[in-house]
Amino acid sequence: PQSGRVAWITGSTSGIGWAIARQLASEGAAIALHGSKAASATTEAQLAELHAMGVAARYYALDLADGEAISPLARRIAAELGEIDIMVNNAGIQHVQSVLQFPPEKWNAMLAVNLSAPFHTIQACAPAMLARGWGRIINMASVSALVGVANKPAYVASKHGLLGLTKAVALELATTPVTCNAICPGWVLTPLVQAQIDALALREGLDESAARARLLGAKQPSQAFVTVEQIAALTSFLASENAAQVRGAQWNMDGGFTAA
Ligand code: NAD
Repeated sequence: PQSGRVAWITGSTSGIGWAIARQLASEGAAIALHGSKAASATTEAQLAELHAMGVAARYYALDLADGEAISPLARRIAAELGEIDIMVNNAGIQHVQSVLQFPPEKWNAMLAVNLSAPFHTIQACAPAMLARGWGRIINMASVSALVGVANKPAYVASKHGLLGLTKAVALELATTPVTCNAICPGWVLTPLVQAQIDALALREGLDESAARARLLGAKQPSQAFVTVEQIAALTSFLASENAAQVRGAQWNMDGGFTAA
């Protein structure tokens, strides 16, 4: 269904983003694989896996904290793979610390990567989507876009902001064939969450499985992690024709996290 289309998934070398890259490639989309670090044996292997699915794919390295470099990268992707039809703003970073000690430079970095980068990618890719008459913008928010969480002030603020940006853009584009939506995952077992499990295990003297259970037990009523494949399937739906009238949605997939 996505053949002939080009998808840029930010932060697609790992976790949720990599699952989305594989999903959209399996549907025939060309993939702009993207991460903050230089190309490596890992990114080469990932490109080989995508090429084996019969799609074009290239790797792009850019630290999204550098907002001014985002639009030039979007132009490079368009020149090398084709105009971007599906923009998935997935890259995000976490830092867990009380607001009382939270380092201001970490605050600035999280706002830049989690919130400002999506603004810059949208500004860079929406004009061509409008000109070509089709587009999908999908922002990876979080349950932390819907409820507050202690000790994550910058993450919660940036994800609430990302939801606001999603709604504003969706309304602005409401009469056009370009949609903008947000996904709000609960706990998904990725490197980003593994770091929080490791910290919890260390702090409380728990083993790995007890730390996982504690993390889920506190907040996620299903007591099970959401999988990266499930988030990728929801992304696929939001990128599909049938999702044309899903606009400005905050779509949670969270094991009941925000129902409580
Ligand atoms: P991850 O750490 O596995 O992957 C993050 C990706 O972002 C990597 O590809 C990394 O290269 C990229 N990235 C990080 N900083 C970057 C920067 N400065 N410039 C460019 N790329 C950068 O994380 P994940 O768990 O897969 O998270 C993906 C998204 O999902 C994030 O926005 C995260 O906030 C969100 N999310 C995750 C969970 C969860 O439980 N894992 C829950 C809710 C929301």
